[in-house]
Amino acid sequence: MSIATVIAEPTSRDIRHNWTREEVEALFALPFNDLLFEAQSLHRKYFDPNKVQVSTLLSIKTGACPEDCAYCPQSTRYDTGLEVEKLMEVQKVLEQARAAKAAGSTRFCMGAAWRSPKQRDMPHVVAMVKGVRELGLETCMTLGMLTEGQAAELAEAGLDYYNHNLDTSPEYYGDIITTRTYQDRLDTLDHVRDSGMKICSGGIVGMGEQQGDRAGMLQQLANLSQHPESVPINMLVRVEGTPLEAEDDLDSFEFIRVIAVARIMMPASHVRLSAGREEMNEQMHALAYFAGANSIFYGEKLLTTPNPRANSDMALFGKLGINTEELALEQPPEDPSPQFYDAARA
Ligand code: SF4
Repeated sequence: MSIATVIAEPTSRDIRHNWTREEVEALFALPFNDLLFEAQSLHRKYFDPNKVQVSTLLSIKTGACPEDCAYCPQSTRYDTGLEVEKLMEVQKVLEQARAAKAAGSTRFCMGAAWRSPKQRDMPHVVAMVKGVRELGLETCMTLGMLTEGQAAELAEAGLDYYNHNLDTSPEYYGDIITTRTYQDRLDTLDHVRDSGMKICSGGIVGMGEQQGDRAGMLQQLANLSQHPESVPINMLVRVEGTPLEAEDDLDSFEFIRVIAVARIMMPASHVRLSAGREEMNEQMHALAYFAGANSIFYGEKLLTTPNPRANSDMALFGKLGINTEELALEQPPEDPSPQFYDAARA
């Protein structure tokens, strides 16, 4: 089957929200080279193919999460030996943000292991958002489910992106999480979109799902009323003590196919390589960039699992002629609030 028979009018209707499962599965079934050619062609239409956006992720509250996500070492239900940490102080978060900026990151993502933020936590996370923005970084948070009001509060504070993953297909979802529904996730994404923030939403592959589930997850993301601006694709990191500790490896070419299909279905979105990069060699990274990945998490830790050292990423970018994407954020105010500076320098 050729690409033309899979996608009707591929050049005139790149951005679509009406993908059928059959169409997505047909993309997965394309010969590998045809799939990558189409993904790279669309990538060049919407992005500089030699630029990659770099984000840093910091865990601002670690472990003791009441949810039961089967892949996650932060769930209180699994004995993974993870050290639990309370919500970080604002000034410590800002120190990390400064270091991330110095290392070349343009976006600073803060993640808390919560089912959803409590109202008493909101002033702290709002202060973090304001402080990180004043450093001239884009801000992103992942705090669990949000109410409409919480989304509005974060948007008002200047939060640029909110991350909330769909994780997998609706059909496979119940095998992975039972403490919140797929619809709960879609509702949070609606609240984020309605608040005016940008959406970061993707999923995890290699959790024992079928290819049809990977197709189903991408179908859900692409058929949202507006594509997520960022689409993180995570490879399962098997953590001892979690229910998925003994999952089989996902074939590397299948992972690249997921990236390429995501690029084709959401051509104007940043497709991000996220968890699992530690297991990927340079060649796999290069293939993922060719397939349309144009964003990575950078730094030593990705929440609680290892991530390739920043130096290795920079060395590979040098070999491939890739530059990091510059920030299109308006500059921070000339005269940031004294309150922020007091906190940051204390
Ligand atoms: S993925 Fe998030 S919500 Fe699920 S257990 Fe881990 S920290 Fe909690």
